[in-house]
Amino acid sequence: MALRGANQDVGRPFNRRIVLETIRLDGPIARMEIASKIGLTVQTVSTIVRELERDGLLVSSRATPVGRGVPPARLTINPAGGHAIGIQITPREISGSLVNLGGEIVAHRRLEAVRLEPDQAFAAIGEIVGDLRSRDPATWLLGVGLVVPGPFGVESMSFTGSTTLAGWAGVDIGKHLQNVTGLPSFIETDTAAAALDEQFHGYGTELEDYYYLFFGYGLGGTMVHRGEVLRGHWGNAGEIGHLPVVPDGELCSCGNRGCLELYVSLEALQRRGGGEEEWVDDVAPVFARAVRSIENLFDPQTVILGGIAPPRLLARLAATTASLGNALGARSDRTVPRILVARGGPNSVLRGAATLAVNGVLAPNGGRAFSKMQPVRPEELQ
Ligand SMILES: [Zn+2]
Repeated sequence: MALRGANQDVGRPFNRRIVLETIRLDGPIARMEIASKIGLTVQTVSTIVRELERDGLLVSSRATPVGRGVPPARLTINPAGGHAIGIQITPREISGSLVNLGGEIVAHRRLEAVRLEPDQAFAAIGEIVGDLRSRDPATWLLGVGLVVPGPFGVESMSFTGSTTLAGWAGVDIGKHLQNVTGLPSFIETDTAAAALDEQFHGYGTELEDYYYLFFGYGLGGTMVHRGEVLRGHWGNAGEIGHLPVVPDGELCSCGNRGCLELYVSLEALQRRGGGEEEWVDDVAPVFARAVRSIENLFDPQTVILGGIAPPRLLARLAATTASLGNALGARSDRTVPRILVARGGPNSVLRGAATLAVNGVLAPNGGRAFSKMQPVRPEELQ
């Protein structure tokens, strides 16, 4: 979807968001290119750029002149122009990162916290946010993004049994988060947050249709189609952990047998013991079945393997590509492999959580493509 500006006064805050988003996605970019891209006059763009520069949100640079004339200044986002906080809750810990507009993690806090009740968890989140805030009190703090294990609203399927976040059903997470932080607040599943990070800081800058397979204690996933998460009616489309892959297999907490995440997940690896290599050899046929199902259902350009698992483990799994077998993805005209390892690395979830807030406050569509919920209407840029 192309971004278009509105050439009236009423559209000014919206135009600011569109100009900023264009620079964020396409920078370094000159004023004239921005104007022709979004359908505003160069004069309007220049006025907005001046305001954004005054607010410290942009940096401009010029290429070395070749021949006569000065090349136009090209604009990029100033990484230090603002920060957002990403928070992740898992059944074992709560962690938070202060992330700048360039996507760099500048401070990190982690609290060991085993299966906290919501009240304790939000008190801990308040403490983490306060601490991260104090690292750079003068900065513009855009907001906070919180990610939790998915899927939402189906407790028996939200994780393999022993690691479920109990007592969280029906809790208004967004409201609690906003109360405890006083910041524009956004929530998402860990899977979608990692996929969002990949969109801004990984392969998503080159690909627009990919399935992001989230390798964590459980196994999740989400299809990103033309840069947006494919949701399904209740927001859980693509959550693949309970795909039945082994007929009459192990009994799962969801009540069915042979679910994928009983075989392919960090929890499964730990439960089985033994070496990683041996484990990958063991589960390769099950993993291949899952990849073939994903390809046949969604027809993605590729399956991106990410999450919180160590990159070397993901690389080992990705190396089984040759034995995936036949499915829609086995095309002779492919330009990318059927499986790629995400570029985001293990910090992708926290960076993605912070990006939720950045998108929610800065992007013209309020970041709706990814954030599941926006309990506050972000204030327009002043
Ligand atoms: Zn299951």
